Amino acid sequence: MRIAIASGKGGTGKTTVATNLAWLASQNGLAAAYLDCDTEEPNGHLFLRPAIDQRREIVRMIPQVDPARCTLCGQCGEICQYSAIVCLEQKVLVFPELCHSCGGCALVCPAGAITETPRALGVVETGRCGGLGFVQGRLNIGEVSSPPLIRAVRQAAPPADLLLYDAPPGTACPMIETVRGADYVVLVTEPTPFGLHDLRLAWQVIKSLQMECGVVVNRALVGETEARQFCEQARIPILAEIPDILAIAEAYSEGKLAIEAVPGLQRIFARLLLDVTSAAGTNALPEAARRRLRSIADLRADPPGCGRPAPGAPSCLLALRGNPRAPNRARAISSPDP
Ligand code: SF4
Ligand code: SF4
Repeated sequence: MRIAIASGKGGTGKTTVATNLAWLASQNGLAAAYLDCDTEEPNGHLFLRPAIDQRREIVRMIPQVDPARCTLCGQCGEICQYSAIVCLEQKVLVFPELCHSCGGCALVCPAGAITETPRALGVVETGRCGGLGFVQGRLNIGEVSSPPLIRAVRQAAPPADLLLYDAPPGTACPMIETVRGADYVVLVTEPTPFGLHDLRLAWQVIKSLQMECGVVVNRALVGETEARQFCEQARIPILAEIPDILAIAEAYSEGKLAIEAVPGLQRIFARLLLDVTSAAGTNALPEAARRRLRSIADLRADPPGCGRPAPGAPSCLLALRGNPRAPNRARAISSPDP
């Protein structure tokens, strides 16, 4: 089962959701792995603190022109869709940063003047944090084309019941490369105008890929209903709302997993994990793990069908009032603890 955690913009809490879900899954009987596909700025390791046991350099092939053989026919420049190779009057120029390593120019060169040479793109690191598999890609500084490295991250995934892809922010090629092939996409958003705008963009991308998705609202606040209204209109399930409480921000700034640092937050994530794995339409969740997660989620106490919040309801969170860790945060909707 492959779940991608994505968002239309950075800073929404995507890595918080991905790392906490991965950790919770691994702690409850699932063979799980976390894959950090945000290769320009991987930061899942700050929270999971894996022991890295393998590093592999990833290269991509860049054309190199032999001027002695080149006839300046221009065919290489004509086929390149990225203007990465340009035939001038007296020479052919190659722009490695723009090259997508498709090999097209070498194929069409009638003089056999083009060979391909490797260029270092970045590294893929693999390791473990306890029972959780860990993979991350690191793009070399100055490189702009991360999709080949993201593919390498995905290919390095260990055998697992659950693979969680932490996608790069935005809606460009790196995000699409990450979510492609996933069984389900979780879109993380925040209840701000920017968050809603970028959620809309991300949803359009997922829709155009004909993939299933649901939404997690992070830093949810009472009275902020625009994200919910949008999801209801677009018929996108809201899977969870993570409260805007100080303790979560403190845990983040200290490099701690929120579910370990904030009492009761496991309940939200257990419920989210159950919902996501169910929505992914696979039966990869072992029965023992399902029972444990249901117990953490305290689903037995809920009326039937309460796996997701009812329309208009502030998710399945409880009122934050009285939580000494969040003074004067009357607008925050909830703490997960009973
Ligand atoms: S390999 Fe492809 S992208 Fe790169 S220069 Fe040749 S045609 Fe262009
Ligand atoms: S296709 Fe080959 S021969 Fe023609 S300009 Fe390009 S490198 Fe030179």
